[in-house]
Amino acid sequence: MKYLSTRGHADRKRFCEILLEGLAPDGGLYLPESYPQVDDATLTRWRSLPYADLAFEVLSLYIDDIPADDLRAICRKTYTEAVFGTKEIVPLRPLENGLYLEALSNGPTLAFKDMAMQLLGNLFEYELARRGEQLNILGATSGDTGSAAEYAMRGKQGVRVFMTSPYGRMSPFQQAQMFSLQDANIHNLAVKGVFDDCQDIVKAVSNDLDFKRQYKIGTVNSINWARLVAQVVYYFAGYFQATKNNSEKVSFTVPSGNFGNVCAGHVARMMGLPIDKLVVATNENDVLDEFFRTGVYRVRGSADTHETSSPSMDISKASNFERFVFDLLGRDGAKTKALFGEQLNKTGQFDLSQDPAFAQAHQRYGFSSGKSTHANRLATIKDTFERFGGMIDTHTADGLKVAREHLSAGVPMIVLETALPIKFASTIVEALGREPDRPAKFEGIENLPKRVTVLEADVQAVKAYIVTHCK
Ligand SMILES: *Cc1c(COP(=O)(O)O)cnc(C)c1O
Repeated sequence: MKYLSTRGHADRKRFCEILLEGLAPDGGLYLPESYPQVDDATLTRWRSLPYADLAFEVLSLYIDDIPADDLRAICRKTYTEAVFGTKEIVPLRPLENGLYLEALSNGPTLAFKDMAMQLLGNLFEYELARRGEQLNILGATSGDTGSAAEYAMRGKQGVRVFMTSPYGRMSPFQQAQMFSLQDANIHNLAVKGVFDDCQDIVKAVSNDLDFKRQYKIGTVNSINWARLVAQVVYYFAGYFQATKNNSEKVSFTVPSGNFGNVCAGHVARMMGLPIDKLVVATNENDVLDEFFRTGVYRVRGSADTHETSSPSMDISKASNFERFVFDLLGRDGAKTKALFGEQLNKTGQFDLSQDPAFAQAHQRYGFSSGKSTHANRLATIKDTFERFGGMIDTHTADGLKVAREHLSAGVPMIVLETALPIKFASTIVEALGREPDRPAKFEGIENLPKRVTVLEADVQAVKAYIVTHCK
């Protein structure tokens, strides 16, 4: 299996070459040259596999430069009941008739990003050891991504994490989650500024190519192909739980921000998993809903990016969306480059409404979309608690609200649960008048000793910290 860039670069690379890389050299995103096809007999064979072995089967279609026994061992080490809370790893929970929640949020940081990031930690450790190399991961977080990365990389050989976050601006629970980690290879840098300052610092350091090379700086953002392919697995696992045989179809609704999660659903569908619809659910930041309704993709400025109660979906542009558009345009790299590499930079938008390809987004690729607001979120959390006795988080609530607008008779609808309510306690209190349930292992984490360094919002300060802490 070789990988190509969505912007038409001539290079072809193998999995382990792109594992530790971000963008392709031409600024595009990596995708496999073709999607491996999964036939009826294979689906039948996969139906009864434990999650870790299903993960191995899916991943081995995309990874041919890690020996099979090693890859299987990595999958078995990653997807355990001890780490993810249940034997099923991603159990389905039924709501009303034909509607299910798929639990993706019982990993170490209680958000679905653990599903991919835990695998990435083990893949990084394996590949770095094989090469005899080291990697210093530099990131910026306002919450979920940073903690998922830290919990995935803690204690791993060859990897250090330097995670910047806006000083005093994360929720007490999120701060406790990250700052209580005592592992020597994890460095929390609280920057006196806002999230954008953190992101600007990361960009400035990454743009200093000499520094980047000398200090082996890398990232783990959501455009990493390994994260995406790890997420493909739970679409298969959800399908198998909701159906009895392969003639049945299911639909998925996915709370979306950067389009990483639902893009994995698109890949699963392209492989032949019988998915009817892929429903993209957004919050007030409705860049993606707007595209699927109108054909216009219009990125937002920071003034038009709302701070909402489902903050992990507060995006101004969707960094993985280019992958889908590349497929939608018949894998035309030149056209994708003209849209994402040129037109978006110049005008902040592009319009496919008159392009015959746009109708295919719905007809051939099965996409639809919808949007949910703060009021919808509160009502959905309350209604779910009253009727089913379960608490859901704000992002999952956006998904559930939109899913109910896209049901079709006889087709099970699976809503991906992307976080647990404890992470967003103040909105739960607003909706239910009581605190969310807290998993036992998180009792009292706010009182644990914290390991964090406060720095000025200054590129030099962050560089100096890295230099003194990366040997
Ligand atoms: C990251 C995240 C999302 C958005 O996922 P994308 O892959 O960016 O679309 C949704 N919900 C939660 C809780 C998240 O952490």
